Amino acid sequence: MEKTSASRPQISVVVPLLNEEESLPELCQWIEKVMVAHQFTYEILLVDDGSRDNSWGVIQGLVKQNPACRGIRFNRNYGKSAALNTGFRAAQGQVIITMDADLQDSPDEIPELYRMIREERYDLVSGWKKKRHDPITKTIPTKLFNAVTRAFSGIHLHDFNCGLKAYRHQVVKNIEVYGEMHRYIPVIAKWAGYGRIGEKVVLHQARKYGKTKFGLSRFLYGFLDLLSITFVSKFRKRPMHFFGSFGILSFCWGTPGRLVDFDQLFI
Ligand code: UDP
Ligand code: MG
Repeated sequence: MEKTSASRPQISVVVPLLNEEESLPELCQWIEKVMVAHQFTYEILLVDDGSRDNSWGVIQGLVKQNPACRGIRFNRNYGKSAALNTGFRAAQGQVIITMDADLQDSPDEIPELYRMIREERYDLVSGWKKKRHDPITKTIPTKLFNAVTRAFSGIHLHDFNCGLKAYRHQVVKNIEVYGEMHRYIPVIAKWAGYGRIGEKVVLHQARKYGKTKFGLSRFLYGFLDLLSITFVSKFRKRPMHFFGSFGILSFCWGTPGRLVDFDQLFI
């Protein structure tokens, strides 16, 4: 049952994960330490996106140790967007924080992100990994990806795809993240009417265990996703403005040719 605003925990931490068994105990301990130090009421939602290692066994152990931990398990790998979306549906917190499970994002950032949502009244605050600890094959295409997304969306963020983000409760309840759209959540939020979007420089660390789940294809697919999200948001309710414009253009292009044929017919 949906809780009333006052009975909600202050913070829900939503963690999408795929094969992250080594990181999970350390990540949860670190989150707990921060929450206790700042006396936050909280929940941690660990969304297992079809892991094939022992992540689910580890999650079950963590849930037993700490009643604030909850686990959700997919029976196959649906992708990070689906994991986030399911976490958003389940989250009860007044502020929802998302973070990756691989310890690249620091839970020490949570209190300031929470403050920015509550006191500075942002709808969404996105982390900015200003100093990245990723290989150069990822950092350079990432810069390009961010520049293109800024140009398309008009949102001035440096790091759209940062896993560490904070949201007001209503925002996550009114957006849907599917396919590979987790890279564009600020764009989805803006088009859903949540335009107060802030940014916070966050610490980024090298992956401690395991390896990245996304290859270079992310940049190509990411760009195609940006085109489709732009299309859907702009023309979903008025498809004729898109297809009709093409129709009129091709009509104008074709008409002079046909007139010439017509003339020839009567000569
Ligand atoms: N992840 C997921 N489902 C997937 C791929 C990744 O839940 O299909 C999780 C992954 O376990 C991690 C987060 O998404 O918690 C970010 O993935 P990763 O660290 O591989 O991405 P990168 O840091 O290389 O962008
Ligand atoms: Mg990572």
